[in-house]
Amino acid sequence: MNKMGGSNLILLSFALCFLVTSLGASEGDADPIYKVCLEECEKSGCVGGKCFQHCNFSSDGKPIDGPWYLQEPLYQKWKQWDCGSDCRYHCMVAREEERRKLGGKPVKYHGKWPFKRVYAIQEPAAVAFSAISLALQFHGWITFFILLNYKFPLRPDKRPYYEYTGLWHIYAILAMNFWFWSAVCHSRDFELTEKLDYSAAVALIGFSFILTILRAFNVRDEASRVMVAAPLIAFVTTHILYLNFYKLDYGLNMKVCMVMGVAQLLIWGIWASVTSHPARWKVWLFNVGGTLAVLLEVYDFPPYKGILDAHALWHAANIPLAYVCWSFVRDDAEFRTLTLLKKMK
Ligand SMILES: [Zn+2]
Repeated sequence: MNKMGGSNLILLSFALCFLVTSLGASEGDADPIYKVCLEECEKSGCVGGKCFQHCNFSSDGKPIDGPWYLQEPLYQKWKQWDCGSDCRYHCMVAREEERRKLGGKPVKYHGKWPFKRVYAIQEPAAVAFSAISLALQFHGWITFFILLNYKFPLRPDKRPYYEYTGLWHIYAILAMNFWFWSAVCHSRDFELTEKLDYSAAVALIGFSFILTILRAFNVRDEASRVMVAAPLIAFVTTHILYLNFYKLDYGLNMKVCMVMGVAQLLIWGIWASVTSHPARWKVWLFNVGGTLAVLLEVYDFPPYKGILDAHALWHAANIPLAYVCWSFVRDDAEFRTLTLLKKMK
């Protein structure tokens, strides 16, 4: 067990080193040929003979032709966004095709790898994996709920014996919220969906950090729980406000999430090596899987066939992790309930 903890630590420190070196600007959108293509497309609405209906606007923002409803400001704005996104996508495809013919490797555009769109979905693999994760989180939550309320004995006031019930309910809601926005953001990313995705991710990681501390250190009385949670909630809230209203800083957000995520893996790793909990092996399994997932998020590579990149694989890795996590939660609920019932006898 201890040996495993050591190798985990080494992996994690590697992950952090890679992280610091891998946070750079994107090469693709700095390329002059791409820039010219984008400028021309925004004026003409066409890339290499292909024209986009979303770009049919005159210089004063009014549609050149088309029905009256196109003149509504909000709809117009939405279409303008679509025009920009179409231009970026098709200029990127054209530029990547040129690069490929010259034997070049794919480069990132606006912080993202060149993905192939499938039915207007930007990153189909990440969307599919996020949707599966969402379904699995829901399944895990429901089975946990049924177990506690219908299978285990309840206290005289009809509350479950398990002391972390409420915390896991909040966790489930935040996790489902995150996977939902993750799927939305990967289908179409612009500023709003990106902000929602980042905010949901920080909220989830921040809350699971609180939950990790409370569960691993057996914090059960209300006052101590507030003492642990208050500063972390304050920090996470400030960070979310910063991202939404000051600067949507990808690198900073990545660091904040990584530090909180890695700290959780460490705390669980230490807990699993000192506890005699019957389901501790599930925590080990989660930790090893979680560490590999962190490495995927950090050790970035371009998408295979324009579809499967490291980030999509990170999403895929989260599917078994969600399963293991809820399986541990159910075991923990059973273990704590039995312990409490034994104490009462
Ligand atoms: Zn993602």
